[in-house]
Amino acid sequence: MSHDLRKYGTNTQAVHAGQYVDEATGAVAPPIVQTSTFAFASCRQGAERFAGEAEGYIYTRMGNPTIARLEEAVATLEGGAQGLATGSGMGALCTIVFSLMNGGEHMVGTSSVYGPSRVVMERDFSRFGLESSFVDTCDLDALRAAIRPNTTMVFVETPANPTVSLTDIAAAAEIAHEHGALLVVDNTFASPILQRPLELGADVVMHSLTKFINGHTDIVAGMVVPGTAELRARIKKVHAYLGACMDPHQAWLALRGMRTLGMRVRTAQENAGVIARFLEAHPKVEWVRYPGLPSHPQHELAERQMDGPGSLISFEVRGGIEAGTRLLDSVELMTLAVSLGGIETLIQHPSSMTHAAMAHEDRLAAGISDGLVRVSIGCEDAEDLIADFEQALKQV
Ligand SMILES: *Cc1c(COP(=O)(O)O)cnc(C)c1O
Repeated sequence: MSHDLRKYGTNTQAVHAGQYVDEATGAVAPPIVQTSTFAFASCRQGAERFAGEAEGYIYTRMGNPTIARLEEAVATLEGGAQGLATGSGMGALCTIVFSLMNGGEHMVGTSSVYGPSRVVMERDFSRFGLESSFVDTCDLDALRAAIRPNTTMVFVETPANPTVSLTDIAAAAEIAHEHGALLVVDNTFASPILQRPLELGADVVMHSLTKFINGHTDIVAGMVVPGTAELRARIKKVHAYLGACMDPHQAWLALRGMRTLGMRVRTAQENAGVIARFLEAHPKVEWVRYPGLPSHPQHELAERQMDGPGSLISFEVRGGIEAGTRLLDSVELMTLAVSLGGIETLIQHPSSMTHAAMAHEDRLAAGISDGLVRVSIGCEDAEDLIADFEQALKQV
């Protein structure tokens, strides 16, 4: 096992967590243990492993050394119990809901969560008797009012997608705990470099590793980080049976991407600050939402709760959806694609793309106007991105 990294900063942790030298070969980079199953030395050893009486691997859906390194690494940064890797961010959410909720119970979620996180609750989990309601959790009174006698989970995404609005995690934890509910935070947008919800009172953190943690737009992957060993045991029991497991090669790529998490997040954030100010000053831009701007409604909360405002910006071009479409069709350096948190700048239109499956009135109520454009700023040179925005805005 690796030495204890908890005393180090998150950049050091990102570089070193799960990165111990391989005992068998001395390999510095982690070996990819690409196997489905593991041989037992004897019948007795196999039985002991199944009974949980002996350490050792059995079958990759239940655990694998390469995946375990990643589970340890993300958990180190988040300050939680060992993580549980999943094949996608959605796999992480479904694992949390399946393991911690029962039919007849109720979840309160942030209204502007990642589109599919809401759709799976409202359309699919509802078929199994799970109730959910989604409210503006930035408004703590609205959150409090949405709690029902059968509420067992509060699910907060902050900053939220795609409105970049913020929820006060410590206050949400207090409200959830007062009612005996668990607080789950989707920390995908901030990454543990900028925000560590478990330290603020959350019970479980989830990630789409597809985004910042892997950071290279080449895999889909997820992670559940329980805050305690007790919660981990409850989630793990379901995790191996649900089948939303990770592949060792996927884990290896995420580990490789994660080594540079700190510098990628910082570079993208520096660029985003410059671009947000540029957009806010541009006459063809109606409004800009970026937690680093004093005009952001929760700017003060961002400064208190986060170690930086991140690199996601939403804005609207004057002229609504037609003008926005024109802009999106005119970008040259930026790529018109969904997803976020990669080294390259991606720009998209939530109401026709990531959030299209939501009802129109739910979208508007969640602050996702028809003309809203979301951009995930990458690690290019800021002046090149500004030049691209300038030429694309000229076409509008
Ligand atoms: C992308 C995303 C997810 C879903 O993750 P996948 O890896 O695409 O399954 C969940 N939450 C947020 C905030 C996301 O951005």
